[in-house]
Amino acid sequence: SGAALAISLAACSGEGAGGGGDTNSAKPGDLTIGVSMPTQTSERWIADGNSVKEKLQAKGYKVDLQYAGDDIPTQSQQIDQMITQGADVLVIAPIDGTALSGQLQAAAAAKIPVISYDRLIRNSPNVSFYVSFDNYKVGVAQANALLVGLGLLTKDGAKGTATGPFNVELFAGSLDDNNAGFFFNGAMDTLKPYFDAGTLKVKSGQTKIEQAAILRWQQETAQKRMEDLLTSSYNDGSKVDGVLSPFDGLSRGIITALQNAGYRGGAKKMPVVTGQDAEVASVKLVNDGVQSSTVFKDTRLLAEQAVIAAEAFLRKEEPKANETKAYNNGVKVVPAFLLPVQTVYKEDIKSVLIDSGYLTEQEVAAGR
Ligand code: BGC
Repeated sequence: SGAALAISLAACSGEGAGGGGDTNSAKPGDLTIGVSMPTQTSERWIADGNSVKEKLQAKGYKVDLQYAGDDIPTQSQQIDQMITQGADVLVIAPIDGTALSGQLQAAAAAKIPVISYDRLIRNSPNVSFYVSFDNYKVGVAQANALLVGLGLLTKDGAKGTATGPFNVELFAGSLDDNNAGFFFNGAMDTLKPYFDAGTLKVKSGQTKIEQAAILRWQQETAQKRMEDLLTSSYNDGSKVDGVLSPFDGLSRGIITALQNAGYRGGAKKMPVVTGQDAEVASVKLVNDGVQSSTVFKDTRLLAEQAVIAAEAFLRKEEPKANETKAYNNGVKVVPAFLLPVQTVYKEDIKSVLIDSGYLTEQEVAAGR
């Protein structure tokens, strides 16, 4: 293949790649890419891991794919092991973006390029490249979907027919995940004029990311927080009209809490609930009219970008970035390649998710 040829050309021209000792005569089959993923509790990471692995293996590389079960020491240990076993490139989606400086220092000492995958690794100079989606735009998309669901905005961005005021509650992701702030900021910048005009109100008063955040993105924690919000702020007969949720797993917890409190239909109809990741259980809820929307990020395309970046490093080249300012990790601005995102309402499920082969019609119908 072209890639294999490029690798052997790079090898002939002198220096080999990466940390695995002498890679001067390296063929893809001699090179190992370590892939560290955070957790298997969310489908997207399973899809990400599988895609990266398949794409690398198809090009002949060896792949060491590990999942850390959302446990920081486990992830550190898995990465340590990848380094001692001579990985030539590391692809890492961190659990806690700030917890891997030690590992990254070891990687740098062994001259192993590190690609930060989807989530930015923070507080380390040893992050070589970042592949992700446009995380700020995810938040903008979620806020817009909330406004569209409430009827304040049309899908084309025109003013909707609804006038409000509406009660909304806000959720954010895990504070140790650099993406959480980007999602929340994108959403809040978009919603601000509506708060300022009084069209949207957060009845609980919890508008700060620290108040809205859900540690490790856990569904049960989101359910509990929604239950608490309902008890503390909506026991006077008032209703929640919308919930900004940054992730489908949280959305399912939020929806469960709302359903348990009697939000179903009629006068107490289910609030507009947003989401992210097009998880199959949530796409079913969107299809059934329970969840309003989700934001689809095609993990197959992200995996492809990770492979492109890995191969560039193996050729001793810098991968091509399309964003060179937005992602300061606390120590340096990490060059990034960002992919676009797509909002999926019920009517988009077929064209965006099924026709592209991401999910099948049967999966959407069954929710698994
Ligand atoms: C990812 C989201 C995902 C969330 C929870 C974020 O870093 O960008 O796609 O929903 O983590 O897994």
